Amino acid sequence: MSLPGPIDPPARLLMGPGPITAHPRVLQAMSAQLVGQYDPFMTDAMGEVMGLYRRVFDTANEHTLLIDSTARGAIEAALVSLLEPGDRVLVPVMGRFGHLLVEIAERCGAEVHTVTAPWGEVVPLEAIAAAMEAARPKVLAMVHGDTSTTMRQPFDGLRELCDRFDCLLYADVTATLGGNPFPTDAWGVDAATAGLQKCLGGPSGSAPATFSPRAVKAIESRRSIEAGIREPGDPATAHPIRSNYFDLAMIFDYWSPRRLNHHTEATTMLYGARECARVILEEGLGAYQARHDLHGRAMLTGVEGLGLAVYGDREHRMANIVAVEIPDGIDGEAVRGALLRDFGIEIGTSFGPLAGRVWRIGTMGWNARTDAVLATLAALEAVLRRHGASVAPGGGVDAAYDVYGTAA
Ligand SMILES: *Cc1c(COP(=O)(O)O)cnc(C)c1O
Repeated sequence: MSLPGPIDPPARLLMGPGPITAHPRVLQAMSAQLVGQYDPFMTDAMGEVMGLYRRVFDTANEHTLLIDSTARGAIEAALVSLLEPGDRVLVPVMGRFGHLLVEIAERCGAEVHTVTAPWGEVVPLEAIAAAMEAARPKVLAMVHGDTSTTMRQPFDGLRELCDRFDCLLYADVTATLGGNPFPTDAWGVDAATAGLQKCLGGPSGSAPATFSPRAVKAIESRRSIEAGIREPGDPATAHPIRSNYFDLAMIFDYWSPRRLNHHTEATTMLYGARECARVILEEGLGAYQARHDLHGRAMLTGVEGLGLAVYGDREHRMANIVAVEIPDGIDGEAVRGALLRDFGIEIGTSFGPLAGRVWRIGTMGWNARTDAVLATLAALEAVLRRHGASVAPGGGVDAAYDVYGTAA
């Protein structure tokens, strides 16, 4: 019987909303050999990862670590560990990932309140304040950058609001961390979770996360009997965290110097996550973010140079992704298919109300690069012309060149 051959993926340039082409150094780090779970090399590497991600999250939080899952798992870990059944949570919703927070919080048994913005806009602070006043939540759970609409929610004023209502602030920063400013401590965020496959430049499967002392206190008050800290019948165990795998109290113990066994750390993912952070910090967090800003602007200016319209509120767009309106009469999926088949370039489709209306083009991590931007714009122009769209010849690349010219 013949076997499938060794894995040999085609060359692709992933310019969608994630995953993106992983940085070669990250792939290289991930091919390193395993060591035992409690090998001093491994525990040292865990300590290094904590230190590296404190810098990426711009935080002093001791509890800064990796959750072994994709970003969605880390959202679930944060919410299931913070929310007890019956707790109130407020979720401002401005796109698909806000709905995901709602869905996960509901499964935690929380009483979920929402405040929504139309797609393509962010939720105004005053609307959040009014909803806080009405709901009095224990947790305010926010998406920082909602990839589905490309909107980036401002965090100004949220800490003051949370202090007023004695509320914890959680943020899903999966799509924004690294490529957009997110100073965890300066913004007073209590819990934030990410994923590697967007601006951090790695594969999906590891989720950097950080928790303030306030969040840690709330989580540890629910420490399970299994962890051996509390006795059966202790009132604090009345509402144990309703997940074993995502029990952050146990995960904290695992990442503490006590190294209490929980799961087997995903060693290869940890090597990858460590290299992602090294790549970022070697460049410098500020420079890394500025690079996302520059190439994101070049892509946006380029698609406009082709005569295409950009979707959503300009003031609040994420640096690293642009939603482009599909011209009338053009089959968006056929264009995406031709870009992949003929140029090896992947751009993103859309969901829900935007399905069939916009493409989403990302410039993240290793792909926030001049050649990746120019190649994508040139290919998009060629494919659009063959599909009968009237686009300005050379307009995309020229407009992007202008952005680079003035920035240089
Ligand atoms: C991509 C993304 C996620 C989900 O990430 P997975 O790694 O696929 O679980 C969650 N939130 C936001 C804002 C995202 O962009």
